[in-house]
Amino acid sequence: MKRVLVIEDNESNRYMIRCLLEQNGFEIVEAVTGEGGVEAAARERFDLIIMDIQLPDINGLEATRRIRQSSGDGDVPIIAVTSYAMTGDKTRAFDAGCTAYIEKPIEPDKFIKHVKKYIKLNKKGTQP
Ligand code: MN
Repeated sequence: MKRVLVIEDNESNRYMIRCLLEQNGFEIVEAVTGEGGVEAAARERFDLIIMDIQLPDINGLEATRRIRQSSGDGDVPIIAVTSYAMTGDKTRAFDAGCTAYIEKPIEPDKFIKHVKKYIKLNKKGTQP
């Protein structure tokens, strides 16, 4: 089963993402802070990370940089999630090392399409 790490501080967004991913057969692990997410990514192997940009401690960009620099799986695909109003976030997300970018509010079909598209890019994710 493909494993997804969801780093998101907002409970209702987290709930929605969890439901969508579980309905589509993914196993999920959640983190509610940037630091917590970085720790989880270093500790366990994931096939994809969903990264909220606005987090209570370090933001999603910093968390992405740390994951990319970590000794864990620095190649894991990371999809940044941020609000529509934050213009410039897209460029910043790619600069920080995000693989893809989606805007809130999350559209279920679009969200799952992105997940399925990018999760496959991780060759390591195909290992048991
Ligand atoms: Mn947030």
